[in-house]
Amino acid sequence: SEPLLKIEDLSVDFHTDGAVVHAVAGVDLEVHPGEIVAVVGESGSGKTVTAMSILRLLREPPARVGAAALAFRGQDLRGLSPRQLRAIRGGPVGMIFQDPMTALNPVLSVGDQVAEAVLLHQPKRDRRAARARAIELLTMVGVPDPAHRARQYPHEFSGGMRQRAMIAMAIANDPDLIIADEPTTALDVTIQAQVLQLIQRAQRETGAATVLITHDLGIVAELADRVVVMYAGRVVETAGVLELFDRPRHPYTLGLLASLPRMDADTDRLDPIPGNPPNMADPPPGCPFHPRCAIARDRCRTERPALLEIGDGRRSACHFQEELA
Ligand code: SF4
Repeated sequence: SEPLLKIEDLSVDFHTDGAVVHAVAGVDLEVHPGEIVAVVGESGSGKTVTAMSILRLLREPPARVGAAALAFRGQDLRGLSPRQLRAIRGGPVGMIFQDPMTALNPVLSVGDQVAEAVLLHQPKRDRRAARARAIELLTMVGVPDPAHRARQYPHEFSGGMRQRAMIAMAIANDPDLIIADEPTTALDVTIQAQVLQLIQRAQRETGAATVLITHDLGIVAELADRVVVMYAGRVVETAGVLELFDRPRHPYTLGLLASLPRMDADTDRLDPIPGNPPNMADPPPGCPFHPRCAIARDRCRTERPALLEIGDGRRSACHFQEELA
């Protein structure tokens, strides 16, 4: 079937002071109706830049976005005007960001903002109906005493409540796709779990496909159907969630999994991947992971591995992935 979202050979460069940083290169991403695809990686891996380039949320310049295909529901997103893009954002594509405070308008009550989100995409609704819908949405996302809270401003909400309000806005117009960028990173742990459950419920109720950007494999295990692992601006592995956790086929994925706290371990010592992600202004030659890779050898220092099919619909970009099988 036609994918809902189709990205082919995405590249994002940042041009500053005569230097060019290739933040994302050669990224393919397909999302099918109803599925949850997690895009995972450390900061600087290009996962957020990838998500933001879908609906052109990067400032261009300094960003320069290129793609062989960038389509939502078969519609080419590349040549769309800012106005056409606004009609998609918050409508058929709902967005949830890490920090709701920057995404919410501080001088508008929360209820008015949710109502605005409804009216922007359903202009025929009258204001009263939109407000009633806003309260209904706030109720759905578990904001207590929603009629009262709707009159409050974002600063009167806790971080978790603000994130709920943002989820209400993201689902206000029955989206086909939700893009969630580190939706729980700014929240404390107990609230994280609640917000995750909420995203899961919102996803089930709307049937929306979801692109979930996260560095947290615990979240991936809980929510995702399929996983795309990014490193240094490129996809290094893709697999179904069970296969990925069961048998990772890229040393970087293996490292990520080793640094995950385990319920069945009697120690809570983690094995983080040694070293740091590369400086993207000057990435290492060959495989960008080689300075940190436990099984790297000479070939890895000169030849960049391509992302290849390795069976079962999986892909890996490692010269020696079969050694992990
Ligand atoms: Fe490690 Fe080489 Fe595979 Fe890169 S290509 S992940 S350096 S083994």
